[in-house]
Amino acid sequence: MIVMKFGGTSVQDAFAMRNVLSIAQEFSGHKILMVSSACSGITSELLSIASDSVCLNDEDRIRRIQEIIKRHIDICNELGLEQGTVLQIEEIGAHLLSYCEGIALLGECTNRSQDAIASCGELFSTIILTGLLGSHLNVQWFDARKSMKTFDSPSKSQVHMEQTSLLSNQLLKPLFEQCDIVVTQGFIGSDDDNRTTTLGRGGSDYSAAIFGAVLEADEIIIWTDVSGIASADPRVIPNARYIESMSFDEARMLSFFGAKVLHPETILPALQKDIPVHVRNTFKTSDRGTTITRMGDELASGMRSVIARKPVSFVQVRASQVSNEHSMSELIKELEQLSGLKPMISVMIDSSIGLIYDVSISKIEEYVKHLEEDNNAEIGEYALISAIGPNFRNFNSKKVFTKFHEIIHENEESPIIFSGIQKNTLTALVNSVHAENILKELHALCT
Ligand code: ASP
Ligand code: MG
Repeated sequence: MIVMKFGGTSVQDAFAMRNVLSIAQEFSGHKILMVSSACSGITSELLSIASDSVCLNDEDRIRRIQEIIKRHIDICNELGLEQGTVLQIEEIGAHLLSYCEGIALLGECTNRSQDAIASCGELFSTIILTGLLGSHLNVQWFDARKSMKTFDSPSKSQVHMEQTSLLSNQLLKPLFEQCDIVVTQGFIGSDDDNRTTTLGRGGSDYSAAIFGAVLEADEIIIWTDVSGIASADPRVIPNARYIESMSFDEARMLSFFGAKVLHPETILPALQKDIPVHVRNTFKTSDRGTTITRMGDELASGMRSVIARKPVSFVQVRASQVSNEHSMSELIKELEQLSGLKPMISVMIDSSIGLIYDVSISKIEEYVKHLEEDNNAEIGEYALISAIGPNFRNFNSKKVFTKFHEIIHENEESPIIFSGIQKNTLTALVNSVHAENILKELHALCT
């Protein structure tokens, strides 16, 4: 069985939905679990209507909901779907109207209400997909809330893996005895009392990974609007290429240091079961995309991707102020309490402490001013440049280290270089104006 997750842009309109149909046809002969997001922009609009319903007048509230319903009905009409599908959309639309009326009457929007309202986005998109695919293929719709069981805080619930596994195997898996494709929702689930919950924004990747893991799928394909994970940001480096296969750790470092395609933590449940995850482009199905596995490409070596995160702020506190790890954590805590910010990286450099914050200097300056005034700290705004590979702690590491240092030093008089924080990443703080050049030179070395 293959689990396929379609992101918001992959189901954003009739054109995109038709693409999904042709992908399903290309994969005929396979059993496919389709996990879909809401059409792009819908979740955000639903959440905003939910909170605005507290103060919106009836007319405006109803108009905004009607616009959402209309967007979906328009897609149905453009696809020439049967009236039955339109009726189902209207039924969900009617629920949406009453949930929001409830918020308006009570004058409060709870997390539970937000979850119920946000879930309509995925219900809409999967109803349309089922209608479309159903006229060509053997398809069934499945309500993910029946088997994706969650606990804890609404809006960002934890998944109860055992229950989800049990129910998915009891209720979802047997559907494949009668059909080839099951269409279900990402992002949504339900708690012990069967109330609707959600897994947090962007949660559909996580849903796909969980369904993949509990159903022991052969593979998971995350269909999105780019052709995989690239060796650099193509807007900065036009000859960036897509990396065909990488390890979970490489993907994780790329996202930590700034890549946006996929949040790799969300696919961890699948990788823990050794299920490969492919990231592919819905609109360019002939592109191979990127395959992420636990081990990655074991033959790959050297630098494979470069990335910049900017602006970041660097706070370096001298040893007189902090002398050991204990005070390091205290300092971090103190700064967190003051600013609400957590450092993305904290290191000991010589005998001082270096903290990198993922924000511009104006956001942190006032909280460290007192340290700076006492001459105990230096702060600055930089770009954080990282080169990532499968593993630098192997035989060719020396060459990689040397090249990285050379390029950084050629461009920057006094860079701050970190090596060895992670086994597969080299990182340097440089002046933002040099970032682009450095990225280009480093990228030329990528294998
Ligand atoms: N529709 C949800 C969101 O926009 C979940 C997802 O797309 O992954 O956050
Ligand atoms: Mg996403």
